[in-house]
Amino acid sequence: MHPERNPDHAPGPARQQYPDRIVVKVGTSSLITDGRLDPVKADALAASVAELAHEGVRPVLVASGAIAQGRFLLGGDGVAAEDRRLAAAVGQAPLFEAFRAGLARRGLTAAQFLFTPLDLCDRGHRQSLRSALEHALDHGVVPVVNENDAVRVRNNDVLSALLAVVLRARLLALLTDVPGLYASDPRTDPAARLVPEVKGMSAEVERLAGASAGGPGTGGMVSKLGAVWIATLAGVTAVIANAHEPRVLQRLLAGETVGTVVHPRATVREHHLEPLWRAFAAPPRGTLLCHPSARSDIAAGRPLPLARLVAVQGEFDGGDVVDVTAVGDPQPIARGRVPLGSASLSAAPAARDDAHVLLHPSTYVSLLEVC
Ligand code: GLU
Repeated sequence: MHPERNPDHAPGPARQQYPDRIVVKVGTSSLITDGRLDPVKADALAASVAELAHEGVRPVLVASGAIAQGRFLLGGDGVAAEDRRLAAAVGQAPLFEAFRAGLARRGLTAAQFLFTPLDLCDRGHRQSLRSALEHALDHGVVPVVNENDAVRVRNNDVLSALLAVVLRARLLALLTDVPGLYASDPRTDPAARLVPEVKGMSAEVERLAGASAGGPGTGGMVSKLGAVWIATLAGVTAVIANAHEPRVLQRLLAGETVGTVVHPRATVREHHLEPLWRAFAAPPRGTLLCHPSARSDIAAGRPLPLARLVAVQGEFDGGDVVDVTAVGDPQPIARGRVPLGSASLSAAPAARDDAHVLLHPSTYVSLLEVC
């Protein structure tokens, strides 16, 4: 069934995919040297993507680095939102040009696409965007995507995952500076083992990986895990691997074990994109402990009434991401964006009826199948 017409969230078999489509996401840190875009790294990526395209794969490249390059060109390091937006607007064209030229040297045409997650969540925008991207792929043109940071800077991990879902890609390759997910913290455990394969994303895997990421890479790994959740819940295989691993994309597509591959479950729900985006664009900051009957609300994709709330754990603001657990079971049964902060929820009046909503279906994702 077509996801646009399947609002009932019924579980079903893994959905149809396009085996020749892959989304390759590369982060800023893998493309810059000394604070500026490194032409050698950009060219190596262009070469790798071009090789795939010549082999019949239809790659979509999502690359960050506009802000870093813009900052370099502006000679500043401002951190205010408007500084970042300006830097992105300055750096966007040089970033694209590096890939355009690298692909052109190998006989390929590149097309630049800039958009935001909201464009993918809006049905009309999504349909236009998808047809434009598919038209590019049909013409052998390589889409080079970045978030439209001049509107708002978020992160490309989540954008690339939403894109992989929209394009029904075979694979989302998240290329970064670490080799993958570790079973323990490599900073404190010299024998930390790289996990080659995860059968299905879960809160347990997330805890393990989040704890093992550490250091300056933490934010990066946390947002990668959000992307992995989105892709795999919607049926797309995700891989986290080192961008500088030789022939990493070729080896991944040949089925070699590189980095950490996270498989979707055998059956996946048809998810709407907006809840996926809202629930996984940021890590959870707290937990809503609910009455066990919350399970049936979530299973049915209904609004979760405020009346189900038993206790609030952690401190968070309205608009933050939280997990939902049911009394007696610590595993999250849903994750979503809560409209009220912990202080307001704790102070909410005891007399609650079903008219007061704790989480709206457009803002939460069921984790009942994964817990
Ligand atoms: N899109 C931004 C850039 O090109 C960065 C966002 C991210 O790091 O994912 O600089």
